[in-house]
Order: sequence, then structure tokens, then C-alpha cells
Amino acid sequence: MDFSESDDLAAHREAARAWADAHVRPEWAAEQRRSGCHQTMDLHALLARDGILGAGWPAEYGGSSVDPGFARAVFDELAPRGLLSDGWATTLMVAHTISHVGTEEQKCAYLPAVLRGEMVIALGYSEPDSGSDVASAKTTAVRVADSAPAGWVINGQKMFTSTAQVASHVFVLARTNADAPKHKGLTLFLVPTASPGFELRPIHTLGGQVTNATFYSDVLVPDSARIGGVDAGWPVMKVALVYERGVGGAASLEQTVSRDLAAWARGAWRPDGSAVFDDPLVLERIGRIAVDEAVLGVLDAQMRWLAGKGQLPQVEGSMRKLFWSESAQRHYSDALDILGAVGVLAPDALGAPVAGRLEQGFRAAVVTTVYGGASEILREIIAERRLGLPRNRPR
Ligand SMILES: Cc1cc2nc3c(=O)[nH]c(=O)nc-3n(C[C@H](O)[C@H](O)[C@H](O)COP(=O)(O)OP(=O)(O)OC[C@H]3O[C@@H](n4cnc5c(N)ncnc54)[C@H](O)[C@@H]3O)c2cc1C
Repeated sequence: MDFSESDDLAAHREAARAWADAHVRPEWAAEQRRSGCHQTMDLHALLARDGILGAGWPAEYGGSSVDPGFARAVFDELAPRGLLSDGWATTLMVAHTISHVGTEEQKCAYLPAVLRGEMVIALGYSEPDSGSDVASAKTTAVRVADSAPAGWVINGQKMFTSTAQVASHVFVLARTNADAPKHKGLTLFLVPTASPGFELRPIHTLGGQVTNATFYSDVLVPDSARIGGVDAGWPVMKVALVYERGVGGAASLEQTVSRDLAAWARGAWRPDGSAVFDDPLVLERIGRIAVDEAVLGVLDAQMRWLAGKGQLPQVEGSMRKLFWSESAQRHYSDALDILGAVGVLAPDALGAPVAGRLEQGFRAAVVTTVYGGASEILREIIAERRLGLPRNRPR
């Protein structure tokens, strides 16, 4: 296997850097840090305008002729500039899910709007009493025949509806049949955040991200907003979760840890006058981080390859998510150790090494083993489906 970048990708990276230099405004990263909302709509509009969102999608659903390699390189370029596109990542997960399970009408209605940047979709799965056990959702959707057009009335509460503060829609998992076994009474809906009866409240997290609790009080949606069959939401969730654990994910911040650390260590000195970069323990730890980052790149490539062949890399997605989140926690912990006392200076503090990115990453990494499938759940998936070990929890 040859893990070096192709000439094409190297050229895309150069073009992507030029694109980002021309378009990315430094104040956007500051604004993301200030607001805790990991989605910048001005940037999103530019990515849509230049066909970057539509790269790799079929033309009949609004896809553009932009090379997906260039689009990937642009997202890779944004992360080190402190810009996250979580809203795009979740939108992409839902768009892929619609392309798998949606009707032709829904694909024609939603996908072009997504790729034009007009729809940003947040995920409304978790509730106060259901996270890992997401199939226990209590939010209800009840069919109403007397509305015009006929539709559904949604009532309930969702937790951690990230980027809902800028989203146009929430992909809501709702119970449509209380009498059926829990996995057989669920249905998914695309709920516009402009709907009467929709409300949100911010939740501040340790990593600086501000996510949301969202509330649904008699929110009416037409039947055309139902994605997948009635009471057949679980198979839809299975597709959506595969995309959440990797395929649909946006560019990763983690590749910057070894680079940031090495850049800092080159110019840093210990109080006894020795150069940090001469410390073999520091070099070994940075080296280990770089190896993990390379492994992650391979896990990513494996998933993209499977997805490119039209497969759903369920186990591979869990492997990638587990490795990414647990290695990120190790990396940032090592990074803070190496930086010493100055390592705890936050991004806006004077003298914070590498603009405080490693400190902020340390806090943000804490929750990565929780969202998008907690580590224990992912281990169970790998144990059961890859290693053939017996199931250890009730259905
Ligand atoms: C920053 C952040 C952003 C998020 N964004 C979103 C979002 O946009 N949309 C959304 O719907 N949700 C979102 N979530 C919610 C996230 O998906 C849930 O927090 C996650 O699924 C875990 O659920 P929980 O918090 O209820 O914890 P629990 O499910 O109660 O888990 C608590 C602990 O118990 C363990 N555990 C649970 N079940 C088992 C089991 N069967 N076997 C072994 N161990 C088990 C877990 O691994 C964990 O360690 C977000 C969460 C965070 C922190």
C-alpha cells in the first residue's frame, strides 16, 4: 500500500489553500469560539456558491462539477483555521440518509436545497431519558387527518440538538406507535425550526460548544416531511448512524495535534535552558500521536472507499469513531503534559501556545467519547458484528 498523497490531492490542497486565503475571514473562528455555535452561515453560503457542498453529488439532485478531492481539501483547510462545520456534517448525514431511504420526490425536494446551502439540518435523536438507548425516545408524533395537507403533530423534548440555533430543520426521531416493541414504533421527520411550537434553549458544554435542548409543542408537519415508512424509523436510524460515525463527517481537527505540538516544541525551552525538542520523551510522544493520526487517515480512507462502492460501513464507522475519540483524548492529554503550565491558557489568553488550540481541544475531546455513539456502545458493535461475540444487552 502507498499512503502518500496523489499528485491530484496535492494540487487540490494548494488550490484549497488559495480558496481559503481568499475567502475565509479570521473573525469567523473568533465568532465560533465566542458563540459556541460550530457552524458559520456566511462561510456555508460561500461553500454552496462555489459548488463545494455539491461536489460528488449527482447532477439531477443539484450536484456540482467540483472535484470531491478539492472539496475535501477545502474542509481540511478550514479546520486548522479554527473553523468547524458541524451543521454541514449533520446535514450531510441526513442528506445521505434521504438518498438511501427517501422517496424520489423527497430527493428532488430536499437534496438540491441542501447543496444550495439553504437547508441546514440538526439531529434530534437524544432526549432527557434516552441517549445511547436512542430507541426509547418518548417524543410523539400523532397523525392528523383533518389538517390540510394531512400530517403529524409532534410533542416532546430533545437534548443536545447541536447547531439547531442556525439550522433550518431538525431530523426528529418520534414515537408513532406506543403499543409496538420500542424499535418498531418509531418514525423520522424533518421538522422546520420555523414551525410554530418549536423552541430551543442553549446548553453550554465544557469544550465551549453551545448545543441546545429543543422543545416541540403541537408542531404540525405534513406527511411529506416523514423520512422512511411509518413505524419503520429504526432501519432509517441505522443508516443515519452509520453516516454519523464517519462517512458523513467533516474534516478532522485531530491531524493538527502533532503538527501544532512539533511547531511549538521547536521554539520552546525548559526553565533549565534545555530545548524541549531535544527531550526524547517529547519526541516519542509526538511521534506516537503522528502514528495515530496516520492510522486514523487509513480508517477514514477505508470507510470512504466502502461508501464510494455504495456500501454502508457500519462496523468500520464504529471502529473509526472509537479510535478517533479515544486517541484524541490521549493526544490532547499528552499535549497539555508537554506544554507544561502554559498549556492551560485558553485560546483568548495572552501567551497561549499555538493560540490555545490544544487547551481548547483538550476540553472538547472529553465529550467525543459520548456523542455519536458512546465508546461502550461502539465496542459492543465491533464485538458482536466483527468478532462474532454474543450480544450482552436486552433487545
Ligand atoms: C457535545 C454533545 C453534542 C451532542 N450532539 C447531539 C446532537 O446533535 N443530536 C443528538 O441527538 N444528540 C446529541 N448528543 C447526545 C449524545 O448522542 C448522547 O449524549 C449519547 O448518545 C449518550 O447518551 P446519554 O448522554 O444519555 O448517556 P447514556 O446513554 O446514559 O450513557 C451513560 C454512560 O453509560 C454507558 N452505557 C449506556 N448504555 C450502555 C450499554 N448498553 N452498555 C455499556 N455501557 C452503556 C455509556 O457508554 C456512557 O458511558 C450530543 C452530546 C454531546 C455531549
